[in-house]
Amino acid sequence: MIADPVVTRFAPSPTGYLHLGHVRSALEGWRAARASRGRFLLRLEDIDQTRCRDEYAAAILDDLVWLGLSWDGPVRKQSEHLDDYRRALRRLAEMGVLYPCFCTRREIRDEVARAGGAPHGLSGSPYPGTCRDLDPRQRAEKLSSGADYAMRLDLGRALALTGAVEWVEEGEDGPLRKLADPTPLGDVVLSRKDVPTSYHLAVTVDDAIQGVTLVTRGEDLAMATHVHRLLQTLLGLPTPRYRHHELVTDTAGRRLSKRDRALTIRSLRESGMGPAEIIARAVAAARPGGASGALDPVPPQSSGR
Ligand SMILES: [Zn+2]
Repeated sequence: MIADPVVTRFAPSPTGYLHLGHVRSALEGWRAARASRGRFLLRLEDIDQTRCRDEYAAAILDDLVWLGLSWDGPVRKQSEHLDDYRRALRRLAEMGVLYPCFCTRREIRDEVARAGGAPHGLSGSPYPGTCRDLDPRQRAEKLSSGADYAMRLDLGRALALTGAVEWVEEGEDGPLRKLADPTPLGDVVLSRKDVPTSYHLAVTVDDAIQGVTLVTRGEDLAMATHVHRLLQTLLGLPTPRYRHHELVTDTAGRRLSKRDRALTIRSLRESGMGPAEIIARAVAAARPGGASGALDPVPPQSSGR
């Protein structure tokens, strides 16, 4: 039971229509905010301009209003706040915990995509640290040659500065202390040449600027919390509490995907389903065995951010 008013947020990417998994996530934050007479905020994570579309952004807002999951205050669009991320990057650079990585765009793009979207936030092994070990002369040569590069967090240096970092997980049976261990994620990318941020940095900065006190999101993103806590500590930002909730899955136990059109709120609305029915379905589907027979098999992918 949470006594103080809590500030929560729902932070989808406008790369598709909302599905039941998003509703589950939005509901978690909305309920926590409303139950405590706090605030429920909406953020659009639209940094990846190649994948985000205005029509999806509009549809997300429209679906939430229709579902009765109204938010408080203005919508924060990440693409409108790039200076906030640049400022945070500069601070980290001054602390000496960043280094340029000259690996190919494709390698980096794939890794960044995995950070916000893979099961458990982890897929494949972390970056091996190739560019961390460049000698200063090699690095200067590459920089002056105009080579494309991304900025990575030097995890070893960062951890040496912060020491052990914890967070409070609001579990089913009450609060639990968790020790952050970002090691499995390695030296994550914090910015690219064309985009002055990444999922990890933007989320960390935004949660602080928006005054979020309880981060609610799917358990597929629990791994990201380890690195977010580290970034918060480096940047001297307040620490929210966290609640990583169960994911909505199909009958085979696989998480829902934005590509699964049959389960978008849009298509459920068109099929005549009402808001209460959709919300009930999202809640039931997140319980093990709860949606037996109700949901069709879909390819595995992350839901929510
Ligand atoms: Zn590299």
